[in-house]
Amino acid sequence: MPKPIYLDHAAGTPIDVRVFQAMQPYWAENFYNPSSLYEPARRVKKVIESSRAQVAQVLGAKPSEIIFTAGATEANNLALFGIAQAHPGKHLVASAVEHESVLEPLAELKKRGWKVTLLPVKADGKVELKELEQAITNSTVLVSVMYANNEIGTIQPLSDVRKLINKLRRGRKSLPLYFHTDAAQAANYLPLQVSRLGVDLMTLNGSKIYGPKQSGCLYVRSGVRLRPLILGGGQERGLRSGTENVPAIVGFAEALELASQLRTKESRRLPVLRDYLIKQIIQKLDAASLNGDAKQRLPNNVNFTIAGISGESLVHHLDSNGFLVATGSACSANNDRPSHVLEAIGLKPVQINGSIRISLGRNTTKADIDRFIAQLLPSVTKLRAFAK
Ligand SMILES: *Cc1c(COP(=O)(O)O)cnc(C)c1O
Repeated sequence: MPKPIYLDHAAGTPIDVRVFQAMQPYWAENFYNPSSLYEPARRVKKVIESSRAQVAQVLGAKPSEIIFTAGATEANNLALFGIAQAHPGKHLVASAVEHESVLEPLAELKKRGWKVTLLPVKADGKVELKELEQAITNSTVLVSVMYANNEIGTIQPLSDVRKLINKLRRGRKSLPLYFHTDAAQAANYLPLQVSRLGVDLMTLNGSKIYGPKQSGCLYVRSGVRLRPLILGGGQERGLRSGTENVPAIVGFAEALELASQLRTKESRRLPVLRDYLIKQIIQKLDAASLNGDAKQRLPNNVNFTIAGISGESLVHHLDSNGFLVATGSACSANNDRPSHVLEAIGLKPVQINGSIRISLGRNTTKADIDRFIAQLLPSVTKLRAFAK
């Protein structure tokens, strides 16, 4: 069997060899606890601080505003629980299409007595500004709207959200109104300068940007008040105790810098491939419809509902023929619930069941797409015939 063609970059990316090399010295050779006092340990501490500066540089932030975490799930939990616990009983708002690592903490906070509003989205997956304006009350302390969706690729109108939040802030006396965004899927392709985005908190991770899994950070603007989730030795300004995962930190910083260098190139190259794939599927398959916005869409995301098939069967059929794609979201592979994102954009259960996500990446070529299309058609025909 030849190596399968990987088209599931929204679920995870292979580590870049340069990232891998940058991490190499920090497993055995420079293993020291960065908090120890002797010279070799102090050097490791300096490496963490230069990684922090490297990340801060890409975001246009201060190094002290970067809190390293073990991935985006932890960063989202820190943002939500952290802000909530610093503001007992207040109100939190998020879109209905957020990642589970935002929605589950919110569900838990609701059980514990906070007020929570989930905003509906339009058929293209974008939040409605009117709904957001109505949702925000005088007791709202946090609005969380993701930068781009992991399932359908829709890019949220963050600059409109920022303007609205700024407007509503002006009427406030004491309670802050914070703006958080989960940028895990956006980091390869979209601008990340926090001042331009106007965010107070931003989640990033390594595993979607050709860095190590369980690496990432939460950007926390100076002055934002939040409580830690993990207490202990006081690392990461007391917001994330525990001996630092130095290879992960170094790898994440390197991956983020590489992503920012490749951003322009990839956000020109991939939309061409993406739109070619979308067009081919629409032309060659009947009863296939694109999910998500056609334009405000991640350069690497394609998500289709194909009538008359089950997405799961199609994924397996494609897998046995050398193509790796996803049904719904790979992140929710551990539960049998239908995709909350496809539900939120108004798809019926049978349509949700017949959906697949194809996500391109740095190594994807036009030849890969052509081979994929050549396999998709017979696979769908076969499954449709079988279903009759
Ligand atoms: C992958 C992903 C996460 C979770 O990231 P981990 O690093 O696996 O914890 C959170 N949000 C979005 C939008 C994602 O795509």
